[in-house]
Amino acid sequence: MSIAERLRAVRDGLPPGVGLVAVSKTHPVSAIQEAYDAGQRDFGESYAQELRDKAPLLPADIRWHFIGALQKNKLKYVAPWAYRVHGLTEVDQAVGLVKRAPGPVHGMVNVNVGDEGSKVGVPEVAVPDLLDRLAEVEGFVLCGLMCIPPFTEDPADAEPWFARLAALAARERARGHALPELSMGMSHDWEHAIRHGTRWVRVGTAIFGPREG
Ligand SMILES: *Cc1c(COP(=O)(O)O)cnc(C)c1O
Repeated sequence: MSIAERLRAVRDGLPPGVGLVAVSKTHPVSAIQEAYDAGQRDFGESYAQELRDKAPLLPADIRWHFIGALQKNKLKYVAPWAYRVHGLTEVDQAVGLVKRAPGPVHGMVNVNVGDEGSKVGVPEVAVPDLLDRLAEVEGFVLCGLMCIPPFTEDPADAEPWFARLAALAARERARGHALPELSMGMSHDWEHAIRHGTRWVRVGTAIFGPREG
């Protein structure tokens, strides 16, 4: 199947209101252009320098989602391009991005729902305080929450984790944070994430094929 065909297969499964972030990390500009020509406009990158290198070579109306970890010394590569940053874990990242961005910065907090030592992300207990502090950052728009749940052999088993993120967002909305967006679901489990009200699914392999390295 071509990139265009695989793209269509995913898009056909998305209900209205769910956006597809085509995760293009490690894939060449030519593959992104192919998806763009098939109508895709939202793309996700995980590595700051890769975003910096690829974005200028591609059409200006692409909306770049930065979905990787935000290292302090690389915020300058992300800030000029990011339509959304999905992986915030610290207030300083938002402050640093705002300083270097041409306009308001829109971001989501990465929640380590499974409390896994191997994963970047904020433990659930620390989320309320972080959201309160992010809400104070001028020029920063807090959009919502993101997660990468623990890997499960059966993708249906990821649903309790998606439900958990949705419940956390609901509790925080009750405390006054708007949090209009959730970002959850990847190639193997996006169909389960949409049942829990996600705004964005982040799909790479199912569109572009396996990554190298
Ligand atoms: C790489 C990546 C994805 C895409 O993963 P696939 O399994 O290839 O769909 C989604 N989200 C994040 C945060 C990633 O780093």
